Amino acid sequence: MTYRRMIYSAMLFAMVLMGSRAAGQGEVQFDVWFEDGTLRMDYYRMGNSHWQRTEPVRFARKATGWSGSRTVLLDPIDNGDYRVVVEDSVSGLPLYSRCYSSLFGEYVATAQGRDSVARFEEVVLLPYPRRAVYVCLQRRDADGRFFNSSRTLYSPIGRSLHQGSRVAMRPQLLLGSGEVASKMDVAIVAEGYGKADSTKLQHDLQHFAAHVVEREPFASRRADINVWGVAAMGAESGISDPCNGVEVASALGSSYCTFGNDRYLMATHLFRLHDLLDSTPADHIIIMANSPTYGGGAIYNFYAMSAVQTMSGWILPHELGHSIGGLADEYVDDDLTYSELYDRTREPLAPNLTTLVDFARKWQQMLPPDTPIPTPPQQGLERRETGALGVYEGGGYVARGVYRPTTQCMMRNYARFCPVCTKRLHEVIDCYAR
Ligand SMILES: [Zn+2]
Repeated sequence: MTYRRMIYSAMLFAMVLMGSRAAGQGEVQFDVWFEDGTLRMDYYRMGNSHWQRTEPVRFARKATGWSGSRTVLLDPIDNGDYRVVVEDSVSGLPLYSRCYSSLFGEYVATAQGRDSVARFEEVVLLPYPRRAVYVCLQRRDADGRFFNSSRTLYSPIGRSLHQGSRVAMRPQLLLGSGEVASKMDVAIVAEGYGKADSTKLQHDLQHFAAHVVEREPFASRRADINVWGVAAMGAESGISDPCNGVEVASALGSSYCTFGNDRYLMATHLFRLHDLLDSTPADHIIIMANSPTYGGGAIYNFYAMSAVQTMSGWILPHELGHSIGGLADEYVDDDLTYSELYDRTREPLAPNLTTLVDFARKWQQMLPPDTPIPTPPQQGLERRETGALGVYEGGGYVARGVYRPTTQCMMRNYARFCPVCTKRLHEVIDCYAR
């Protein structure tokens, strides 16, 4: 061993010790374990309501640095169906984690998902490791505890520096408030814009960026949010709508009529989505769909999607409630095709619904004293007012046995976000802004 190599080994050993001590205290030091880069992992999630498995496809290094937090590396918020955990390959210490949900998680709750096997593309973004790590894809057991569904070794040694896709678009900074490392970076990707739509596309990007920070609590957190735009143009204009016989070959495979719901607008080509975002900081993603038809959809730490139409200024914050806040819908809808989204014998994961099984974990501490449970809904509220905080029956698509915090809310009927939803959105934005 040369003298220089001995010095290097001693330094590495000291770094590992420092990092181990920090991680043991629940705080991972970013610079010890990670460099300013983003590792992307593509994989398939397949199965049905009886079984599922994940199948890693590829790793790639994004052309951007790391846009997520460098101080909050282990996700403090317990929400979502899945979690990715990065572990040091030597000590097994958890270095990074993020909870999320996916379209597959909703598929298995539909009638079709009971028996038919389907395969969905998924992507996770991770801070770029300095040394070999295990990337663990986890899901929850029947008691809600995470376990590994796959554990894949990734070593940065011997990899070329930039393996990102060549189709990446240069992003436009639509609303800038500062360095990506200490801001929540929201990336808007255009979908369904043909060659003739370039003027409309620029106009729509500006409007969507304004919608992101238009309403509370996003408005008062404007200084903690960057909004980026990716002006992807396709061959054809518009969005597929199989419920009405419309087929468009759009870049991201977007479609209304997801799981048979005519206004549920989602995209399935996740690998392609992240190819387009290769040069864009993207803590959260919005797909902006070029269609005048009412519709949208969103999944926690996955993406939000909204059509560009007259209601966009309300649809988009509602969808960001799902994708950024992990908030559940607070409305009742007997027509929805989900058979078992909420088990009424346990607390839902979302912070804004309760089954009263363990209400202390929800907004019990925020309730005014002597609030009746259930609380009778308030009548005669203004269109955008939430009404008083209470425990109102009906939410999560069902009328009985599931309760919401206020009579009206952005997650119910495009009112303001209620105090419970507002609190969670602040907690999430804090994770990026620290
Ligand atoms: Zn709410």
